[in-house]
Amino acid sequence: MNSTFFPEGSRPSRPMVIAGPCSAETEEQVMNSARLLADKGIKYFRAGIWKPRTKPGGFEGVGVEGLTWLKQVKQETGMQVSTEVATAKHVYECLKAGIDILWIGARTTANPFAVQEIADALQGVDIPILVKNPVSPDLDLWIGAMERIYNAGLHRIAAIHRGFSSYDKKLYRNLPQWHIPIELRRRIPDLPIICDPSHIGGKRELIAPISQQAMDLGFDGLIIESHCDPECAWSDAAQQITPDVLDYILNLLVIRSETQSTEPLSQLRHQIDECDNNLMQELAKRMRISREIGTFKKEHDMTVLQTGRYSEILDKRGEQGKQLGMDSEFIKRVWEAIHEESVRQQLELLK
Ligand code: PEP
Ligand code: MN
Repeated sequence: MNSTFFPEGSRPSRPMVIAGPCSAETEEQVMNSARLLADKGIKYFRAGIWKPRTKPGGFEGVGVEGLTWLKQVKQETGMQVSTEVATAKHVYECLKAGIDILWIGARTTANPFAVQEIADALQGVDIPILVKNPVSPDLDLWIGAMERIYNAGLHRIAAIHRGFSSYDKKLYRNLPQWHIPIELRRRIPDLPIICDPSHIGGKRELIAPISQQAMDLGFDGLIIESHCDPECAWSDAAQQITPDVLDYILNLLVIRSETQSTEPLSQLRHQIDECDNNLMQELAKRMRISREIGTFKKEHDMTVLQTGRYSEILDKRGEQGKQLGMDSEFIKRVWEAIHEESVRQQLELLK
C-alpha cells in the first residue's frame, strides 16, 4: 500500500487540523461552529451526520439533511468538509452532496463486511479517505481495512488513531496504546497518521497533552471535536471545545522537526510512559480485586494473611519473571511490596 494522501514531497511541516463538532445538530449550530473555526484559520471541517451510538435511544445523527449544511459550510467558508460513512448508502449520499473527505469510524473498521461494502461503493472514485483504528487493539484489522479501500483504487488514504476500548475506563475514554500507531508507521512509513485526542481522552482537559504527545511522535495531523457551545452538544459534550480554546491549544503546540536526532529517544520514552500507564491501571485493578477478597474474608471470618497463598504467589511470580528474562529476586521484591499494600488495604476494611 502506497498512500498518496500527501503527494510526493508535499507532506506539510505543520499538522493538518480537522475540526468541527462531533455531530451536526442543527443548521445554526453547524454554521456557527464552522464560521468560528474558519476565522481561526481551520481548513478542514468535520461533523458526524450518522452517529454510531453504543446504546439505542441516543441521538443518532440528523441524516441526509445535515449534508446540505455541510455543503453550505463549504460554499460559505471555503473549508473542505468531512463526515463519517458506515454503509454504501452513506457513501452515495456523500458523493452526491460533494463531501470532500470521508472517514470510516472505529466500529465500522472492526467489521470487514462493512468496510468491503464501503470499498465497493467507492470503486473508481478518487476521494481522500481516513480510516479510524478498530475499537480493539488489532493492527492487522486496521491495516486490512485500509487495504480494502486501497484495492478499490482509492490511494489518498490516511489513518486516524482514536485509541482502543478497554473495560476499565479510568484516565482515558479509549487507551492510546501508542505502540500500535508507532508500529503502523514502521510498517507503512508513507501513510499519514492523524491523532484524535477527543475520542482518546474523552474529556476536554486531555486534548492538549494528547495532541502534544502525537506531535512529539511525528504524527501528521489532528482531528479535534470543536463546537460553538460544547456544554450543550447533543453527543460527546465532555470532550468538545470551543473554537477559541482549540486555537489556544494549537498555538501552544510545539512542533519538532522530524529530522531531530532525539526523535527515536522520545518515541522510546513514550513507549515507557505507555507501559507505566498500563502497569498503573493493572495495579489499581489488582488492588480493587484484592479489596473484594478482603470483604469476602471479613464476611466469612477468615484471617487476612493466608501464608500458604502468599508463598505460592512469591514463588510462582519469581519463576514467571525468570522465564521472562528478569531476575527472580527482583520480581519477588516487587511482589512483596504489592502484597504488603494488598494486606494493608484488606486490614483497613476491618477497621
Ligand atoms: C466520531 O469521530 O465522531 C466517532 C464516532 O468516532 P469513533 O468512530 O472514533 O468512535
Ligand atoms: Mn464524537
